[in-house]
Amino acid sequence: MTEQTGARSVLITGGNRGIGLAIARSFLANRDKVAVTYRTKTELPDGILGVQADVTDAASIDAAFKTVEAAHGPVEVLVPNAGITKDTLLMRMSEDDFTSVIDTNLTGAFRVVQRATKGMMKLRKGRIVLISSVSGIYGAPGQVNYSASKAGLIGIARSITRELGGRGITANVIMPGIVLTEMFGEVSEEMKAKYLAGIPAGRFSSPEEIADVVRWLASDEAAYISGALIPVDGGGSMGH
Ligand code: NDP
Repeated sequence: MTEQTGARSVLITGGNRGIGLAIARSFLANRDKVAVTYRTKTELPDGILGVQADVTDAASIDAAFKTVEAAHGPVEVLVPNAGITKDTLLMRMSEDDFTSVIDTNLTGAFRVVQRATKGMMKLRKGRIVLISSVSGIYGAPGQVNYSASKAGLIGIARSITRELGGRGITANVIMPGIVLTEMFGEVSEEMKAKYLAGIPAGRFSSPEEIADVVRWLASDEAAYISGALIPVDGGGSMGH
């Protein structure tokens, strides 16, 4: 595989832990200029620029972009990754449970994508890799809010592809299955066993297995892929 020479400005939201941090490390190993947003101050590996931002707050996103642009130049690779769950059955789901998950996972992605594409349009190039979930196409009990937010990312990627595809910008969606991070730690052992039974690979994913695909989608080799949904799920969502 041809690796990038690594001069690109890369920004990952929610990159202080979990999948986001694995993605950041992967771009760093590729010698890109990597920045991550965090809400909670965390120790980051050397070479990764941390900027505080809450994706529910457009002003904090704008401030974070200004810092990244000053340090690394306009963002050329954007990975909207920040996400939350508030799982509960539909009958118990409050409107706030629904709208807060949408505000972070979907509207949050919209906010950062809109901010990033300003610079990408000037550059006439850019890569957007949205971190969705198989839950967005497969559905999951207790995840009406989360599934809706993750399905919405598909609409964002495909509309960007149609609006901005002619300006050298691609937008794709990665759909992880189950990844061993703190987010998955909240799932009960009983549910974990149920999920595992539905995964042909017979195991869950590491964050690095998601990161590798993200980095590849942002590479020159993937220049002609846009508006695509890429499941990285051990075969768990085949046919959906
Ligand atoms: P974690 O819970 O480990 O990390 C979530 C990240 O999102 C943290 O960095 C967190 O920041 C950040 N975040 C949450 N809310 C906000 C906000 N309002 N503003 C800014 N940052 C925020 O999750 P994962 O690493 O597991 O998940 C990363 C992405 O992958 C999510 O979008 C998730 O939906 C998706 N995904 C995860 C799967 C899994 O099995 N783990 C499966 C499929 C998809 P902070 O540390 O400050 O809270």
